[in-house]
Amino acid sequence: MTEKLFYNDVYKSEFNARVLSCNKNGDRYDVILDKTLFYPEGGGQPADNGTINGIKVFDVHEDGDDIVHYISEPVEEGTEINGVVDMERRVRLMQQHSGEHIVSGIIHHKFGYDNVGFHMGSEFITIDFNGVVPKESIDEIEKEANEAVYKNFAVNIFYPTPDELEKLEYRSKKALEGAVRIVQFGEYDICACCGLHVVKTGEIGIIKILSHQNYKGGTRIFMLAGKQAYEDYVAKNKIIYNISNMLSAKPNETDIAVERLINERNFIKEQLVAVKKQLFALKAEAVKENTDCVVMFEDNLESFELRQFCELLMERVDFAAVLCGNEEEGYKYAIGGKNKEMMPFIKEANKALNGRGGGKGDMVQGSFKAAKEDIEKYIRDNA
Ligand SMILES: [Zn+2]
Repeated sequence: MTEKLFYNDVYKSEFNARVLSCNKNGDRYDVILDKTLFYPEGGGQPADNGTINGIKVFDVHEDGDDIVHYISEPVEEGTEINGVVDMERRVRLMQQHSGEHIVSGIIHHKFGYDNVGFHMGSEFITIDFNGVVPKESIDEIEKEANEAVYKNFAVNIFYPTPDELEKLEYRSKKALEGAVRIVQFGEYDICACCGLHVVKTGEIGIIKILSHQNYKGGTRIFMLAGKQAYEDYVAKNKIIYNISNMLSAKPNETDIAVERLINERNFIKEQLVAVKKQLFALKAEAVKENTDCVVMFEDNLESFELRQFCELLMERVDFAAVLCGNEEEGYKYAIGGKNKEMMPFIKEANKALNGRGGGKGDMVQGSFKAAKEDIEKYIRDNA
């Protein structure tokens, strides 16, 4: 049986303990100590990391009354070891977990929804609620959650008697047996939980809801708290200032500047399409009328432009092919024959020129993967 020291003082990182057992298990060694500060994975909170006698502890699990530490080298049974918990990781996990309770509690109070899925990932936390949280309420929820942080009140953790528990209204994911550990964040949340939490809410620092989406008939919330939220702010602030410099816009007006840029780009695109259309007409006019076959290789044309140009050429010639691309990536094509059913032609052409594509009636579109000369020769010979 392992004594759980981590509940006594969540900020204590170093301890000495006796090795009860150390068993080789594949590549790793499973170590059970008489007591430990290492929190084992549970209640949605990942396990602590750290070292035992300088050997890395990469995972910790609960097995009945024992806590099993996974390490990469053996330690001797019966000896005393020195354990050190990675507090950087521990604090981050506590900030995230406590932040999650506050948000879940506020949503539960406001809408009566339960947290039915909780995941603490390396990039963000997700919380799933069994009801749709209105998107207009998200900002308000976030604001309230941060108010709880500013109030900097002590988190109350207690084990009520069965009678007290009976009368207590608390959130719980499952029916619990034995002594139930209750974690209370003032008026914001009361929840059964075995995880580790900050001592006072101010230690959470920031609670930030990143986004939300409909999920399985309810809402999934993506959020960050503490150091991770701060780091996210630093990264996003940098991005905003980069965009602001590039667009010569005030940082908090970059969205307006981007919208303007998109409108300008769309306008230029429309103009380019119109200019290209004129160019196609001029090029088509330069082709001698009643020529049997014309094959044109063009640069930077979209599929609809290939078709447009090909249609213009077909007004003057019996057989027209417009292509665009290169030998490595292939040549996109639009090929048309006046009063001609083009599918038989293109089936054979695709076979010969490593191509694909087709169409209906007198026009086909697709791509060839062959040399320019081979494509031109094939089309001229078979038109
Ligand atoms: Zn919890």
